[in-house]
Amino acid sequence: MPLRELVIDGFKSFAEKTTIHFNTGITGIVGPNGSGKSNITEAIRWVMGESSAKSLRGSNMKDVIFAGSEFRKPANRAEVTMIFDNKKHELSCDSDQVAISRQILRSGDSEYLINKQTVRLRDVRALFLDSGISQNSLAIISQGRVDQILNSRPEDRRSLFEEAAGVLHFKKQKEAAEGQ
Ligand code: ATP
Ligand code: MG
Repeated sequence: MPLRELVIDGFKSFAEKTTIHFNTGITGIVGPNGSGKSNITEAIRWVMGESSAKSLRGSNMKDVIFAGSEFRKPANRAEVTMIFDNKKHELSCDSDQVAISRQILRSGDSEYLINKQTVRLRDVRALFLDSGISQNSLAIISQGRVDQILNSRPEDRRSLFEEAAGVLHFKKQKEAAEGQ
């Protein structure tokens, strides 16, 4: 399902609400060092449920909120929204367009929304689980990730294959059922 738009507001260096439109084919993002290219991929991982502040180069999740600059005061909140074209219903959601958002306030309060309805993180994860994209799937390859995959333990590498084969969803459901 094609990603149509990414809206970043108050996240890291994106002090102002910024919308990135994606057309069919390949989109390249270029810019000088420190201009925010990696922050864009981090925004995507964050909205998909990234829970490790460290992997987003921070020490606390609140560090993702725009911290202020010489000319701008810090933001009160960060929000990222991804809008997918779901006409082929590849995401398990009835609507033709799916907007997934995550917000965080300075208080640390945070929420996820699917089509503007508040949901749980597990709902966001469930939506993506068999789509081949998740915050740490092979759909997003960060710097150093290839080395990490090659050097990983066989059982860790196995989960990548399970995700690709679409069985991870059932495994997670089984784990959740066993934990209840
Ligand atoms: P490179 O080409 O070196 O990889 P890049 O385009 O990927 O650079 P990023 O790493 O995405 O750049 O952006 C880094 C910039 O984001 C730094 O200037 C940093 O100060 C800024 N930044 C990170 N977090 C915040 C924040 N919470 N508030 C404001 N600015 C931030
Ligand atoms: Mg970078």
